[in-house]
Amino acid sequence: KKAGIPGLEPKTLAADILKGNRVALARAITLVESNAERHFEQAQQLLKLLLPKAGRSIRIGITGVPGAGKSTFIEAFGSYLCSQGHRVAVLAVDPTSSLTGGSILGDKTRMEKLAGNPHAFIRPSPSGGKLGGVHRKTRETMLLCEAAGFDVILVETVGVGQSEILVRGMVDFFMLLALTGAGDELQGMKKGIMEIADMVLINKADGPNEAAARKTTEEYRRILHFLQPSTKGWESRALSCSSVTGSGISDVWNTVEEFEKVSKQSGVFAERRRIQSREWIHALISDQLEFSFYNHPEVKALLPKVENEVIAGTKPVASGVEELFQAFFKARP
Ligand code: GDP
Repeated sequence: KKAGIPGLEPKTLAADILKGNRVALARAITLVESNAERHFEQAQQLLKLLLPKAGRSIRIGITGVPGAGKSTFIEAFGSYLCSQGHRVAVLAVDPTSSLTGGSILGDKTRMEKLAGNPHAFIRPSPSGGKLGGVHRKTRETMLLCEAAGFDVILVETVGVGQSEILVRGMVDFFMLLALTGAGDELQGMKKGIMEIADMVLINKADGPNEAAARKTTEEYRRILHFLQPSTKGWESRALSCSSVTGSGISDVWNTVEEFEKVSKQSGVFAERRRIQSREWIHALISDQLEFSFYNHPEVKALLPKVENEVIAGTKPVASGVEELFQAFFKARP
């Protein structure tokens, strides 16, 4: 077995992270994000050492279409939390980076003020690998940040579908950042996302937009009232705020705190975390199975032939799949 990388010894790293050393934290995250096999063992040892100190935070997911004001809001919200004595870590799940190599979230210079705050830690979305891999890395990074003493974790993602479900599955509280005057959209398209949100936050409620924002907030409130709540025992809220003037920002935090209190008292908070851990196991198993299946040499060789036969109509799909699985299980590499 290869020796560990100097400076990345799990025991030393763990001790430094527990002291709140940011350089150590950044190194540990790099280790967790690495796709190199020799880093995997080190990262897992590190996580094992830190697990008893992880988990003590409120994990908040934030989504919204590009332009909704996510980075502006996170900057305002994060700065407010720091001023209240919290330590805030900001992570991102970027659905585009893994698919196209480009990035919706990571490229522009964002949250400069918050980035300079000694009580905040901002980590751009990990790149490389498939969305499942990004998901694992973000969850592990979250645990590292918690061990380093961050008590509020913000996980940002763009509202384009799949990534929201992933983020909902790793946070305690999920909020949708929305804009004024969504009108018809309210009825249709966003319903799925609204059903996984604990809060809809209408941003940019300032200047000439303020009155319209208030009206939109009322509309969301009415709709949320009729939807299945995302969290048992919690009727999802609609609030408005301005990330520019800062109005409403403290109410957002008060609502999160209320949510935490209510859901901890009812046991729903702990139950959700248990469910999420269990789901995480199965997500990793699926990922790994899929990966080893498609990278199996026999499967790789056979797949084009099976595809052609199925397309030509000479072989039923299930027989083709059966044949691939037999190749997979017969010849273990
Ligand atoms: P993101 O793509 O969701 O991260 O959105 P940004 O944070 O980049 O914001 C998009 C645009 O909306 C920027 O020009 C911001 O300055 C503006 N913006 C964000 N929040 C507010 C707000 O509360 N009020 C106003 N008036 N503009 C805002």
